[in-house]
Amino acid sequence: MQKALLQTDLGSLPLTARGKVRDIYALSDEQLLFVATDRISAFDHVLGSGIPDKGRILTQLSLFWFDFLRDTVSNHLITADAAKFPGNLQPYLGQLEGRSMLVRRAQMFPVECVVRGYLSGSGWKDYQHTGAVCGIKLPEGLRESDRLPEPIFTPAAKINTGGHDENISFETMVATVGELHAEALRNLTLEIYEKATKHAASKGVILADTKFEFGLIDGEIILADEVLTPDSSRYWPAETYNPGGAQPSFDKQYVRDYLESIRWNKQAPAPALPDEVVARTREKYLEAFHLITGRTSLT
Ligand code: ATP
Ligand code: MG
Repeated sequence: MQKALLQTDLGSLPLTARGKVRDIYALSDEQLLFVATDRISAFDHVLGSGIPDKGRILTQLSLFWFDFLRDTVSNHLITADAAKFPGNLQPYLGQLEGRSMLVRRAQMFPVECVVRGYLSGSGWKDYQHTGAVCGIKLPEGLRESDRLPEPIFTPAAKINTGGHDENISFETMVATVGELHAEALRNLTLEIYEKATKHAASKGVILADTKFEFGLIDGEIILADEVLTPDSSRYWPAETYNPGGAQPSFDKQYVRDYLESIRWNKQAPAPALPDEVVARTREKYLEAFHLITGRTSLT
C-alpha cells in the first residue's frame, strides 16, 4: 500500500482551488485538472490523516458513473488517462495517475442539484421542523432514514465561503437559473438518480441521496464535478438498513465512531487517525468500489 497523498505539488502550474479533498489546477481557459487526493473530511474538517488510495477510488467511481450515464447526459471529462495529459503534466504522473481527470471548464450553475430517496441529513432536519423538505410537503409520521414515497429534488444554493450550502425552494432556483434550466436540471437529476439507484440496488447498496453539479458548455447542459462518489452521496448497505434512526455510513462510520470516542470538540485542528481506523476505512472504500463497479483492481 502506498502512503496517502495529502496534497499535490505540480510546480508552477496554477492551483485554482483546494477543496476539502480535491486540488484543482487551471490548465487553460478551457481546461481544468481535478486531482482527488487522499484527504478525508468528517464533521466538516479535513482530518490529520489521509486514506491511502481514497482519491483513486473516488476518481474511478466518478469515471464508472460518467460512463454508465453517457446515454443520459453529457459530461465534462476529456480524459483520465494520464499518458494523454498535456506535456507539462508528464513530470508529475506519479502524483496524478489514477486519481486525476482532465475536464472541460464549464460555466457552472450556482446550485447543487440534490436528490433524496430517503429522509436523512438536512432533509430529516427540515422535515422535523416544517413537515417538508425544500418546500416539498411530505406525508406525516415519517421516521429518520425512511424511504420517501418517491424521490424528491431538493436544490441547495452554493455558498463558497466555507459555509454550508443552503437548501432552497424550486422557486428560488428558478429565480437564480431561469425556469427552462431549472426544469431541465430537475428532470436530469431525477432521471440520473433513478438509473443509479437501480444499479446500486442490484449490488446490495442503497443510494439514499446524492448531489450533482451541472454546467453549460457551448450552451449545452453537462454533468460536471464528481459523480455519485461516497463524498457526494449517502450510500447505505441494504443488508443492515433499519429506518427509525441514523444509518451507519458505508465509508466513514469507523472514522466517525473513532472521533466520537475521543470526544474531539469538532474544532480545528482535526486529529489524526490511528492506523487501524485508516486501514478499516480504506477497506470500506475498496468494498464500495468493488460492489458498484464490479472491478477488483484500481488500475
Ligand atoms: P468541498 O471540498 O467542501 O466540496 P469545494 O466545493 O470548494 O469544497 P471542490 O468540490 O473540490 O471544493 O471544488 C470543485 C469546484 O469546481 C466546485 O466549485 C465545482 O462547482 C467546480 N467545478 C466542477 N466541475 C467544473 C467544471 N467542469 N468547470 C468549472 N468548474 C467546475
Ligand atoms: Mg464541492
